[in-house]
Amino acid sequence: MNEITLFVESDLPVDMEAIVSNLNRLCKYLKFKKGRTPLEFQEAVISYPKSYLDLNKAIVEETQGDLFFILLTAKPYDNNFFWMTSGNGVILSFSGWRYLTGLSMNNGLVYFIANMLALRIDNSYRHQVTTGCIYDFNWTKTGIDIGMRSASICPRCLTRISTRELSRVQNEILTDDRRILNDLGSASKWNQDIVDYWQHQGIKPESKITEILKQDDFIPEKDEKSYINVTRSHISELRKLYLELTDSELLTAEKGKVFEEFSKRFFGLIKKWSIIGSNVNLKDCEIDIIYDISQGPDILRQRMGDNIYIECKNRAEKSDVQEIDHFVMNLKTRGLKSGIFFSYGGITGYSPDNWRDTDAAYRRIIDVFRLEHILILPMVAQDIEAIRNGTNLVEHILVLLNRFVMV
Ligand SMILES: [Zn+2]
Repeated sequence: MNEITLFVESDLPVDMEAIVSNLNRLCKYLKFKKGRTPLEFQEAVISYPKSYLDLNKAIVEETQGDLFFILLTAKPYDNNFFWMTSGNGVILSFSGWRYLTGLSMNNGLVYFIANMLALRIDNSYRHQVTTGCIYDFNWTKTGIDIGMRSASICPRCLTRISTRELSRVQNEILTDDRRILNDLGSASKWNQDIVDYWQHQGIKPESKITEILKQDDFIPEKDEKSYINVTRSHISELRKLYLELTDSELLTAEKGKVFEEFSKRFFGLIKKWSIIGSNVNLKDCEIDIIYDISQGPDILRQRMGDNIYIECKNRAEKSDVQEIDHFVMNLKTRGLKSGIFFSYGGITGYSPDNWRDTDAAYRRIIDVFRLEHILILPMVAQDIEAIRNGTNLVEHILVLLNRFVMV
């Protein structure tokens, strides 16, 4: 009565071999097995009790005497549940999984095993709202995400369990479940697939920085005109550089180099903006880039001209009036009429939330536009955050351009 057999429909991305062998390595009492009988549900929708009554007899025979067995399917339940149980059988539905969480189904399967084990220890109570506790009912299915990340038993439930008289078997199960939850949480909270986590026995050095961000970071929510370059390699490199850039431990000299690469990738989000020259001053954490934007989105070219100049500064201090004047001079000597002044630490007198108030260096930016018709877009760290969270960079630049006629 300590065996758990797992069956999976062939179309599900679950690494059953790895999960079974690692759970057997972790658990002292429980024994996991991969089911031998191929699993296939004939019906499009799982229902209780029909799907259970129709189960392949070979599966029923193979699992006699099991503590329980789990049948994994991508098909939905008619009541939209994750799982139901009949006798010692559980049908577990991963329908719509990718809409619920960015974590893998491997983590999901391990979570549900931990969840079912917890209910073997005590099934007297379920949280009706999402708390992250393994005793959550998960009426709201997206609660599964926080459940996997926290992978824990809340203090209230721990107290309840401690006051119960547990059998020897229940105590064994509790010990094993703790080990499972510990690994599940360690992997999930860093967006790591638990199978990868086990393979490397811990967090991989490179995954430490590349997997913390949300899967859709730097991908715009809307891009009807297809302005933005969202190729996998571009986005993953941009995310990696972003994490390095925002890592406070980075030395100043390294920061300059990272910022250079980041800036190029960041503006490289816009399709067909091509760099025709760049000049880096790592000591000052400053980089100048000249872009030919004539082949890029017309809507920007019309307003900004064929070539634009971008100056990027990655110092802790805000950029001041002198630096704006220097930028204007650079624009003029190159015969350009617009540029982006990208200052990670901010610009004096400029607040992105209160852009109608103009003062200090920002005041100068507005004056230069009115008097000399030279357009300097101010961009700061907050603009990076907006793009990271799904704002379309082209539309965002348009919004910034439109402010010039409104201040
Ligand atoms: Zn709880």
